[in-house]
Amino acid sequence: MIITDAVMKAETYYAATARDTAPYPALQGDIDVDIVIIGGGLTGVNSALELTERGYRVALVEAERIGWGATGRNGGQVTGSLSGDEALTKHLRKTQGAAAEDFVWNMRWRGHEIIRDRVARYSIECDLRHGHLHTAYKPSHMAELRATHEEAGRRGMGDEVDLLDTAAVHERLETPLYHGGLLNRRNMHLHSLDLCRGEARAAAGQGAQIFETSPVTEIIHGKRPVVVTAKGRVTADTVLLAGNAYHRLERGKLAGKLFPASLANLTTAPLPEAEARTINPQNLAVYDTRFVLDYYRMTADNRLMFGGGANYSGKASPDIAAELRPALERTFPRLRGVEIEFAWSGQAGIVPNRIPQLGRLSPNVFYAQGYSGHGIATTHIVAEIMAEAIAGTMDRFDIFASVPHLRNPLGERAGHMMLALGMWYYRMREKLS
Ligand SMILES: Cc1cc2nc3c(=O)[nH]c(=O)nc-3n(C[C@H](O)[C@H](O)[C@H](O)COP(=O)(O)OP(=O)(O)OC[C@H]3O[C@@H](n4cnc5c(N)ncnc54)[C@H](O)[C@@H]3O)c2cc1C
Repeated sequence: MIITDAVMKAETYYAATARDTAPYPALQGDIDVDIVIIGGGLTGVNSALELTERGYRVALVEAERIGWGATGRNGGQVTGSLSGDEALTKHLRKTQGAAAEDFVWNMRWRGHEIIRDRVARYSIECDLRHGHLHTAYKPSHMAELRATHEEAGRRGMGDEVDLLDTAAVHERLETPLYHGGLLNRRNMHLHSLDLCRGEARAAAGQGAQIFETSPVTEIIHGKRPVVVTAKGRVTADTVLLAGNAYHRLERGKLAGKLFPASLANLTTAPLPEAEARTINPQNLAVYDTRFVLDYYRMTADNRLMFGGGANYSGKASPDIAAELRPALERTFPRLRGVEIEFAWSGQAGIVPNRIPQLGRLSPNVFYAQGYSGHGIATTHIVAEIMAEAIAGTMDRFDIFASVPHLRNPLGERAGHMMLALGMWYYRMREKLS
């Protein structure tokens, strides 16, 4: 499908308010580069930027528009929640001992540094704000937040986090919910599509060739692999496949490794300034402690952005606004009946052990995918690791590539059913605890 500017604008809050909507051309004819990247979300765009900054000739080929996938549909929350951190620590302890904890802790915050640096260096306007609140949905959930608070203190981050009791949370959010929370001033929120398109513009400024509306239909493996689209071909030394939950390439090796889950999100119409300051006076991004959680924040034009739930069948809900409204109104009773202006869904790549999947399909064809519903910070870390690997420094890539991942032999349909069953089990366990 060719996505015109008008279609892109109509679909999500992000597309409707994006600052840079100027299109990139479609790929026409044959070109030759050092590295070709498939997929123009945060993973692909940041890998392109990292590699052009290192002096490589890079082409990036996107099926729709830059940031069209999960990147232009997410909650915009930049948190230190590296998905699969516990499983990764456990895996690494076998070879690295106590250093495993340090590796994972540093990884959790590296994405924040990269984002802040990019935004400053390339003057990317993306409504970046600091401040995040992780709220305890049940009193028993405070134990987890207390442990994170203690760890942050031990690791020299104590001045950036505060443990809040119920009253202190209610000073910051006009809601009857929650039993305390963890306030984190290092975490951020931002306009994810503007960040991605700003980073793409920076990569193009450094010489990357960017193509939109050019779905890749095939990767021809070989000494110099070739990426094929309807009207062109890119020959390169190295390919990076960064299509995440949206692509259908390389089924032989990748089918059954990643499960697309459909996540829902919406924004209200802009709220009057006084109302916005009443429900969330410090403009914090928020998510709660449940396994399938609600997440929300204010946008720069005073809308409430509110997301939650997940559909593990991989199919989008037919009426996202109706599905999310009860949770929104339970959270902020004063917004009962509020107008919902944009409602949309996006595909996130879920991995059973939640550890991002980095690997190779052949010696010079790499892939990176699967951030299990997180990813704004993680994609920036992963892009750095992929660029390092393509440039020949394999240490961090090898750590991820060595992680064993389950591959569902029963095909994707059965995989969705198993995932849905697993999620149902966790939700029930949470309800009963
Ligand atoms: C509703 C929702 C809310 C979320 N909220 C948050 C949040 O608040 N915080 C957070 O950290 N993370 C969040 N995430 C997760 C985060 O958005 C993703 O992890 C991240 O954007 C993944 O980026 P990506 O580049 O790997 O994939 P994507 O952004 O999905 O990009 C993949 C791209 O590949 C392109 N593509 C696919 N096939 C082809 C092909 N054959 N040829 C060419 N191009 C192709 C697609 O068109 C797409 O643009 C959320 C996700 C969703 C869906």
